[in-house]
Amino acid sequence: MHTLRSNCFRLISRAWPERVTERREERDGFVDIIMIHGVHDSSMLHHGLPPTSSASLESFRANLESLARVREVIRLSEAVAILEQGNRPKRRYAVLTFDDSLACTSRVAISEVLRVGISATVFVSTEILDTGEPYWWLRLDHAWRHAKVEHARISGPQGETVVIQRGDHASLGRAKKILRAMRADHRDCEVRSVEQTYGAHLSDPATEYPYAEALTWAEVRGLAAVGIEIGSHTVTHPNLELLARDEVLRELGESKARIERELCMPCPSFCYPYGKYSPEMPDLVREAGYKCATSTISPGRNLAGQNPFLLRRYSITSEPYKLGYELSGFPRMLRSCGGRS
Ligand SMILES: [Zn+2]
Repeated sequence: MHTLRSNCFRLISRAWPERVTERREERDGFVDIIMIHGVHDSSMLHHGLPPTSSASLESFRANLESLARVREVIRLSEAVAILEQGNRPKRRYAVLTFDDSLACTSRVAISEVLRVGISATVFVSTEILDTGEPYWWLRLDHAWRHAKVEHARISGPQGETVVIQRGDHASLGRAKKILRAMRADHRDCEVRSVEQTYGAHLSDPATEYPYAEALTWAEVRGLAAVGIEIGSHTVTHPNLELLARDEVLRELGESKARIERELCMPCPSFCYPYGKYSPEMPDLVREAGYKCATSTISPGRNLAGQNPFLLRRYSITSEPYKLGYELSGFPRMLRSCGGRS
């Protein structure tokens, strides 16, 4: 059942004359890159509510439908080649990308992608594939969802404290923001402390919280075999801004080499964890042998001449048809009129 809100999104995305709100340089064509973090089906709901970043299968289907209606969906490597040609893209393209090497990408989402006859790129963090250890923010989500007490707290690098209140999304979001700005060892201590306080430690994602289950290398090879492009999301998914240059080079080089060894094919694309990069990072990514890199900062479309190591993306949301609405240009028109979207 779609809500009134999602029906409005569907109506606007179908009826809005997109070109009305486009700038002149967008009128010929462009590339919209879509970012997805997780898709869950109803069977996973038996293990508790999903993390806020995960979209339901129903919503994902609706967003794919609205995307395929307005864009020609191509591979990331094709999009980079089009943007590099120096001419304006002649059509309105889109690329689907999945971050974070989650098992649900292979087990839930990709069959839908293939069903509508399109492709995608999946960015994997190689150490997560090797160990199966859930990402820290999914452990935090799990602890918060299964908390046995009302609140826990974390301490940030400047000594700041955030109280995470059970049931309060905003406090969870504030804590994640601070934890993203911390080096891995301190961050993991804080996450362990929250798990202890909440009395909810995630030891086996497959049976306790499948939203956090990682892909296996066998599944990654299966994705590559059906034409899904596999890109690097580093070895350990660090905040690259916090690392020394040699640590950054190791994350870039070792992940690329590992993926190429496993798949026996080149790994040309990279994705900055948390979308974070320092000014010298695009050059380091290029020197490591990649052909492109995507971020999560500065959502928007990619026009001719876009730096291939700073590709912009849109986030797919958990709301049905919201993607088509966002791409329609209608929210931009509202913003230009001083309204909210
Ligand atoms: Zn990520």
